[in-house]
Amino acid sequence: MRKITALLFTGVLALMLQSCYGQSAPAQKEQESPAYSRKDSGSVNKSNEEWKKILSPEVYEVARLKGTERPFTSEFEHSKDVGTFYCAVCGNALFRSNAKYESGCGWPSFFEPLSKTSILEAADNTLGMRRTEVMCGKCKSHLGHVFEDGPPPTGLRYCINGVVLDFEKAKTAEKKFNSKKKTDSGS
Ligand SMILES: [Zn+2]
Repeated sequence: MRKITALLFTGVLALMLQSCYGQSAPAQKEQESPAYSRKDSGSVNKSNEEWKKILSPEVYEVARLKGTERPFTSEFEHSKDVGTFYCAVCGNALFRSNAKYESGCGWPSFFEPLSKTSILEAADNTLGMRRTEVMCGKCKSHLGHVFEDGPPPTGLRYCINGVVLDFEKAKTAEKKFNSKKKTDSGS
């Protein structure tokens, strides 16, 4: 009996902590997928059989079968929000919004990854094309391709499927924006 009370208490405490820190989105994801974590940066290795049980069919198709989402369908293609893009499969931080630009190609585009280790690249000679595939550095999920027709300073275009991205708005940027709005309207 005492054990059950203790378990209940831990559960309530965890819920309270979750709402205090306001991270319900990633916490919820972690509950849905045991492979998703924004804190643990260790590599994630699973078979496609296991991934199929964890991921939604749309994410599985792109991330594990190297599929491509239909162009011009991602909510992230035109978004200008300030924040960080994470891997929707494992929670690895991939791109910052300040490296995002409108390439017009139909998929969210970035001119550089968040860090050298956040992504992996590999030669992709399928479909009669010579392309460079981009994968998540932590779980090796397929993200998209990188092309050499991007803007300065890198000249690169990381063309990424929005379905495998997860976005978190920067809280500090949001605060700054809101306080600026206040001063603007006050003057
Ligand atoms: Zn990943």
